[in-house]
Amino acid sequence: MPRPTQATIDFSALAHNLAVVRQYAPRSRIMAVIKADAYGHGLLHAANALKTVDGFALLELDAAICLRDAGYRQPILLLEGFFSTQELGLLEQYQLSTVIHHSEQVAMLLESKQRVDLFLKINTGMNRLGLAPEQFHKVMSMFKGNRCANTITLMTHFACADDPSEKESVIQQLQYFEMATQGYNYPRSLANSAAIIRYPETHADWVRPGIMLYGISPFPDQTASDLNLRPVMTLSSRIIAIQNLKCGDKVGYHGLFQADRAMRIGIVACGYADGYPRHAPTNTPVLVNNQHTRLLGRVSMDMLAVDLTDIENAELNSPVILWGKEITVDEIAHRAGTIGYELLCAVAPRVEKVCF
Ligand SMILES: *Cc1c(COP(=O)(O)O)cnc(C)c1O
Repeated sequence: MPRPTQATIDFSALAHNLAVVRQYAPRSRIMAVIKADAYGHGLLHAANALKTVDGFALLELDAAICLRDAGYRQPILLLEGFFSTQELGLLEQYQLSTVIHHSEQVAMLLESKQRVDLFLKINTGMNRLGLAPEQFHKVMSMFKGNRCANTITLMTHFACADDPSEKESVIQQLQYFEMATQGYNYPRSLANSAAIIRYPETHADWVRPGIMLYGISPFPDQTASDLNLRPVMTLSSRIIAIQNLKCGDKVGYHGLFQADRAMRIGIVACGYADGYPRHAPTNTPVLVNNQHTRLLGRVSMDMLAVDLTDIENAELNSPVILWGKEITVDEIAHRAGTIGYELLCAVAPRVEKVCF
């Protein structure tokens, strides 16, 4: 038997979540965001479950080429664009769409004379990527009279669409975008998951859902099930050792957990090198044999310890669920001081991904 640590990907949940996106944004085309190995779910597993979608967005060129090679014909957008002139040849060859967020990229493109589908990204206040409005006008004029821009789509990205107290900021970015792009009649793309759900006025021609496809709520004040989203990934493993502790015995690195009575503990084949967060503290919930129990002590690189004292039927090889439908990745993330996005993306390549 191989090491029992697996990420199980629920194919039908992904398809269901895509249908939920369609309900929220019925008039927009959907560009499924599958960057970072589909948020840790496995690029080709996710693409297969989402194969009816209108387009894909990611930022790894090799993954984009892999999708084309696998036969996907819809637009594939590179969210950070290209990084060198050499890559531009591949963009044309594989018909990949690219974000243009910087005038350096425009210069490279004009010089290469390649013909590419462009998403011109405008910085409307997030101050991460994007052209300032005056740069944008200049770039638009630079594409006149040459064949480099096969198609043009205008895009921006919201900084605070997931924050219920920052409604103003979304409205401001939206107004800024409308002002900057006034008079240009091109398709538009603005909304991530949070904006798709909370700000229908941002839907425009293309929406770009990421996290909601994977069944995670983008909001702190609404759960996935409130939004009719189904968690897609279950991270599971098994008990690979059992220890009986006396009162006073310590567990794991630095003896961080100390038994205050006789206890039975299980060692689970999953650690931070698999993507389980090292900062998850004692008492973080875990399921063993489908019963709720808790993490004990420090998570190590390849293993963690759980309390089996009250789970009498737990034994060697008992199944363990670290997160999934019953214990959400967001709950674990919250305990570890981070967000579900980070945990999903951190699931390591050595964790086998199984689709059902
Ligand atoms: C990652 C990303 C998205 C998807 O965001 P979610 O919050 O996961 O829905 C959309 N647009 C851009 C530009 C992104 O980088």
